[in-house]
Formats: sequence, C-alpha cells, structure tokens
Amino acid sequence: MTDSFDLLVIGAGPGGYVAAIRAAQLGFRTAVVDEHAAAGGVCLRVGCIPSKALLESSQRLVAARSELAAHGGVAAEIGLDLPAMMKRKDRVVTTLTRGVSSLLRKNGIEHIQGRARLVGGDGDVRRVAVTTEGGEQEVEARNVIVATGSRPATLPGIELDGDRIGTSTEALAYGEVPEHLVVIGAGYIGLELGAVWNRLGSRVTVLEFLDRILPGADAEIAAGAEKIFRRQGLDIRLGSRVLGATAKGGKKEAGCVVEVDGADAIECGRVLVAVGRTPISDGLGLKEAGVAVDDRGFIQVDERFATSASGVFAIGDVIGGPQLAHKAEEEGMACADGIAGGHVHIDYDAIPGIVYTEPEVASVGRTEEELREAGTPYRTGKFPFRAIGRARATGSLEGFVKILAHAETDAVLGVHILGSHAGDLIAEAVAAISFGASAEDLFLTSHAHPTLSEAVKEAALAVHGRAIHM
Ligand code: FAD
Ligand code: NAD
Repeated sequence: MTDSFDLLVIGAGPGGYVAAIRAAQLGFRTAVVDEHAAAGGVCLRVGCIPSKALLESSQRLVAARSELAAHGGVAAEIGLDLPAMMKRKDRVVTTLTRGVSSLLRKNGIEHIQGRARLVGGDGDVRRVAVTTEGGEQEVEARNVIVATGSRPATLPGIELDGDRIGTSTEALAYGEVPEHLVVIGAGYIGLELGAVWNRLGSRVTVLEFLDRILPGADAEIAAGAEKIFRRQGLDIRLGSRVLGATAKGGKKEAGCVVEVDGADAIECGRVLVAVGRTPISDGLGLKEAGVAVDDRGFIQVDERFATSASGVFAIGDVIGGPQLAHKAEEEGMACADGIAGGHVHIDYDAIPGIVYTEPEVASVGRTEEELREAGTPYRTGKFPFRAIGRARATGSLEGFVKILAHAETDAVLGVHILGSHAGDLIAEAVAAISFGASAEDLFLTSHAHPTLSEAVKEAALAVHGRAIHM
C-alpha cells in the first residue's frame, strides 16, 4: 500500500518530532517514521531525560546524607533502593514519550513504527520504504526530513558487549552499583554519568585523552569544575590514551581490563565508553538518493537544511554541529518553516551548552581562548557565588560567573557559569547574546534579590570594574 504525504520525517527525536509538529501547524499532511514505538528519540528514551532523572535522584541522596544535618534535619541512616530509583527514571521517560505521542496525535500526524530508507523519486515525489513488523510499506512524500540522530562512537580495541563494556545506554540502567567504574572520556556523558555512579557509591576513574576536561568549554571554567569534581571523588586522569578494553568474564567486580598508553592496565567491574557520538546516516539509501555526506558520515546541508537531493532535508545530530536536543529542535522548526517558504535563521552563536553535574557548567557564545585566538579585543568580568546572599542561604557556594564583552563595543560575546542552577541562569545570557546586548545592558537590567542571577549582574558590573559586592 502506498500512502502520500506533504512531509515525511524520518526519526521522532527532538529534531524530527518538532519539525513534524511545526509542519502540521503550517497545514502539511505529515507523517513521522521511527524504528522505536516510543516517540522522543535518543533524548527522551536513553539520553537527556533519563540521565537528568538519575542526576536528580542521586544528588538528592547526596544532599540528604551530607547536607540535611546542617539544615537541622534529623534522619536515620539513608540507604539506597536502586531499583526504585531506576523505576522512577523509567516512569519519567514513559510519561514524556507518551506525551510526545499524544502531541503527534493532537496535531494529526501519522506515527509509523519501522525502519525507513529512501528508495527513489519521480518528479517532485520522494519514495520511502518502511520496514515494519508486518513487512515493507512504501510511503510517498513531496518532502522528506532525515532526522535520524546519532549513536555512540567507540574506539579501536574496545569490544562493546552491551553489558560490562557499554555506552551511556547501559550506564543509565546498571542493575547494581559497580564497585569500580572506568569512564573513558571526560565530556558531557562521562562527567554526568560518572557523577551519578560516584554519588551512588562507585569508585569512578575517568580517563581523558586530552590534558583537560570538557573540550570546547572555557578553559578557566573547565579547570574550576575539574577541581570540584576531583574533590567530589572522581579520579580524573588526564592525558590518558585508552588502547583497548576487554571483558574477561569471571569475577564480576574485576571482569574488565582497560589498557592505557604508558600506564598500568586498570581492572574494573564496568566500563563506560563516552568518547562522542557518530551520525546515523548508513542504511538509509542516501547515496542512491543522491544525498551527500561528509567523510565522517554527517549529511551535508545548506542554510535551509536542504541536502544535495531535491526534496530531501536533514536536521539534528545527523548533520553535525553541537549534538544537543535544543539545537535539533531549533533546526526542526526552522526547516519546516523553510519548506513552507518561510524565513530560516538560527543563531549558532547563541546555542547554550549545559553539563548537569552539581555544580552545573553552562556556557553560551565565545570562550576566552576563542577570542584570544581570533584577536578580538575583550574585557572580562567575573563574580563568585560565595559573595551572593541567596547562595549563602542555600549553601551552594561553589563556582562563578564569567562574562566576556567586546573591549570597544561592550557587546556580550560569551558567558560561562560554573555553579548551582547555572543551566537556568544561562538563559538570560542567551537572550542577551541573541539580542546583541552589552554588559551594560545586563547590569542596568533589574535582577531580583535574593537570587543567584545577581551573580550575572555583578559579573556584568565587573566587566566595567564596578562590581558592588566584591
Ligand atoms: P535522536 O534523538 O537521536 O532521534 C533520532 C531517531 O531516529 C531515533 O529514535 C532513532 O531510533 C530513529 N532512527 C534512526 N534511523 C532510523 C531509520 N532508518 N528509520 C526510522 N527511524 C530511525 N542533549 C541536550 O541538549 N541536553 C542533554 O541533557 C542531553 N543529554 C544527553 C544524555 C545522553 C546520555 C545522551 C546519549 C545524549 C544527550 N543529549 C543531550 C544529546 C541529545 O540526546 C541529542 O542531541 C538529540 O537527541 C538529537 O536529536 P535528533 O532529533 O537529531 O536525533
Ligand atoms: P564528548 O564529545 O562530550 O566527550 C568525549 C570525550 O572523550 C572528550 O573529552 C574527548 O577528548 C574524549 N576522548 C576521545 N577519545 C578518547 C580516548 N581515546 N581516550 C580517552 N578519552 C577520549 O562526547 P560524549 O560525552 O560521548 O557525549 C556525546 C554528545 O552527546 C556530546 O557531545 C553532547 O553533544 C551530547 N550530550 C549532551 C549532554 C548535555 O547537553 N548535558 C549530555 C550528554 C551528552
């Protein structure tokens, strides 16, 4: 049977489902194909959402154990019910994936479960084969958006076994607290999931190839975060090039061996490989359809997300750039608007990135290193949370706000925050950069007292050498 749509979206992740909803709002007859029954893609199923649920639960446990007494709370020993924590995480995921399914239904979008592959086109119609449980079905559409996302990358010498040597997907669902977990990569996933298992009682060794954590983040902020994470118990080993990892089997708690260049091999119970993610552009019939990909497999698109094949567009992780859910969403919305003939613009300088550790690491715009390298004249304003009244009241004193503004125009070029709730505080900085605000605009804006956002105002004042509370 052949069905015909104005738009078919392949992949129901944050890029794909948002594109589909926007297209439906614009009056397109729209369908989404995803190989999984649950909508929401990696982000909802095995990414952003379950990781944040575990970060929240594990941090509450830490707070109850180490902070409650100072607040006057008296509790008997606080233990860990890991199955209950995992059940809560699964409930959060199910609620949200069902929510996305119901949004698709509400917008009249057909949700097909199956694996999609481009099979050809006649004139201005694209044909897509969808392999479902019941066999193969063909769908026709005037436009196709490929939003197939990404999968975990691995390294030569590492045998992923879907269990003891695994990726974030396994680390979101360990059935027991590993006695010793080795994490390969001190990026987003390594630090977030390393923090979760460290809080739950694992000894966590983080092996990072580079001489710093969080490549791409402002170096001063990353160094500050590293110091705190070490104090929290992460054994971070920089300059560690992993040569291989194997599961020997046998005794559970020493079942894996990780080989590191120039250092002793490490025995551990589990290994989490977190060295980046690669695009899912294979098995989609892209080459036959005339869709160009680069040498790393990312689909190449123009500024309207059009690929080299007419009527085929691509968005999200599969086209490269920051592999973030909100970036995929922005692209989904813009791509659908563009197909309808509308204006397409995304300000990639104003896409925030947040690491949801405690404290959080949040940033938007240029880092100090980037400005230095580009020869851009800049001034810096910094302000520590320990001088903020609200931070004293909550007890979250670690970290600081750093604002980089153009030395001549005062335009805000970059904002980097290490601190509790940094991920929420960065929203103001994103708006400031989007609207071309100056550091002066930031400090002339009223910031409620007592809030953590006062640190942003003070850092903006500090750009002009006039912080009040320091
Ligand atoms: P995806 O979400 O990957 O969705 C693509 C969908 O397409 C998938 O469901 C896939 O199964 C399906 N698909 C692929 N091929 C086919 C095919 N041939 N036919 C049918 N369906 C197909 N980002 C953030 O912004 N914040 C976070 O806190 C965050 N945390 C993360 C934590 C973890 C552990 C991980 C792994 C990622 C995290 N990310 C986070 C990144 C975020 O998940 C991705 O950037 C985002 O999901 C990308 O969205 P997407 O729509 O491009 O693709
Ligand atoms: P990442 O790119 O953030 O970090 C990978 C790290 O592995 C880097 O520090 C890199 O230097 C290191 N590395 C690479 N090869 C190595 C080797 N041989 N030995 C040791 N270290 C090595 O990738 P990730 O943590 O796997 O996450 C993938 C993507 O998912 C991220 O880039 C991010 O876009 C997204 N994500 C986002 C969030 C969030 O927004 N909070 C959370 C998780 C994941």
